[in-house]
Amino acid sequence: MPFEFQGKHVTVAGLGVSGVPAAKVLHGLGARVTVVNDGADERARAQAAELEALGITVRLGDGDTLPDGTELIVTAPGWKPTKPLFTAAGQAGVPVWGDVELAWRLRRPDSAPWLAVTGTNGKTTTVQMLASILKAAGLRTAAVGNIGVSLLDAVTGDEEYDVLAVELSSYQLHWAPSLRAHSAAVLNLAPDHLDWHGSMEAYAADKGRIYEGNRVACVYNVADKATEDLVREADVEEGCRAIGFTLGSPAPSQLGVVDGILVDRAFVENRHKNAQELAEVSDVNPPAPHNIANALAAAALARAFGVPAAAVRDGLRAFTPDAHRIAHVADVDGVAYVDDSKATNAHATEASLAAYESIVWIAGGLAKGATFDELVAGAAKRLRGAVLIGADRALIREALARHAPEVPVVDLERTDTGAMLQAVQEARRLARPGDTVLLAPACASMDMFTNYNQRGDAFAQAVRELGA
Ligand code: ADP
Repeated sequence: MPFEFQGKHVTVAGLGVSGVPAAKVLHGLGARVTVVNDGADERARAQAAELEALGITVRLGDGDTLPDGTELIVTAPGWKPTKPLFTAAGQAGVPVWGDVELAWRLRRPDSAPWLAVTGTNGKTTTVQMLASILKAAGLRTAAVGNIGVSLLDAVTGDEEYDVLAVELSSYQLHWAPSLRAHSAAVLNLAPDHLDWHGSMEAYAADKGRIYEGNRVACVYNVADKATEDLVREADVEEGCRAIGFTLGSPAPSQLGVVDGILVDRAFVENRHKNAQELAEVSDVNPPAPHNIANALAAAALARAFGVPAAAVRDGLRAFTPDAHRIAHVADVDGVAYVDDSKATNAHATEASLAAYESIVWIAGGLAKGATFDELVAGAAKRLRGAVLIGADRALIREALARHAPEVPVVDLERTDTGAMLQAVQEARRLARPGDTVLLAPACASMDMFTNYNQRGDAFAQAVRELGA
């Protein structure tokens, strides 16, 4: 429904990547904007100065008090629902929108439909694959959300799109009550961000909002029953279909894999008898099981939008993953070195470890409250050895002792910049020809590195030094 911003008192909660552009857009629409922000560091002061120059009020150092007269809050997605600001808003009957809700409300009436993707892992990859497929079909599109173009720019900018491939986090979905996608996929559900959502149920419920009001297809993961349950609970438009994806042979209304071919048994005439070949498994880069699942989810959304089979194949072939996601760095002495520094939690690491037969595993960092027993027990048979780094490495060492006592472990205490080179040297000593040395830390990087990119770069640099 149209929302009249002219003269409205809107409070933007949080400066930063979403807050600053939101404040500017709202100000441009005639709203009386106040930005509140918890911190008052140098960056916040610079952003505040920029906004104040436009006539926007900014309150630094107090993100908890609801400004008098507020009629709407537009919040940064990361702000916890339990913050006093939102309690006060609830008591005053003030609605709260996130950045996605704002973009949804501001889109032009004739604007491009959204094909939306969420999940604990694989969102970015899937959305990029989807955009690549849509482009191969000659459609004007972009991958938006956490990546590339911002959602707000995509819906309010001058560039015209036929369809958008939208990545959505659970936080964003929490604050996007009226979003209605053309079709959407939940890739998988594993415990993550539970401190923010309060419980696994609340996390799942927020992810499930992506299906609300879908028009054509709700895409779920056959291997992850929780995603199918969310489809069942969703209130969708008449005629919207539940479409599964599976690494096995597909049933009717599913996409799956048969003899190394990605196959569609959902968007074909007479799906009880017929199937459509889409692409070969080797067209997916890298062809690791979890990534084939991502490709099937992307294909399902594209097919729901009417994309021909050949474009699915061409789009998958044209796709290259972002850096640090199962990136093959080099082969040295018959051993492959693979950088999956983006595997910052156990669920992503499990997928990564499942992709190789015999692995020297480099892991560790900040565990963020996670435990590693299940991960290690599942991978034990494929581990040639492990090299552990970072603050919480003892947690992984103990899990290895419990579930894989025969696997040799090197425990590195040092955390200086030379630590990664030593880790790679130790891994080389453990590896035999045919093995894969895999950096898949299952942990965040900030104890030793600025971010996962820097951690992956350090690994690649160390591998190059081995080969030199
Ligand atoms: P996200 O945007 O959800 O963080 P990415 O595509 O950036 O997802 O991948 C994040 C990490 O998750 C990578 O380490 C990758 O190897 C792993 N991953 C990707 N797809 C999946 C999947 N379908 N299941 C489990 N792990 C995955």
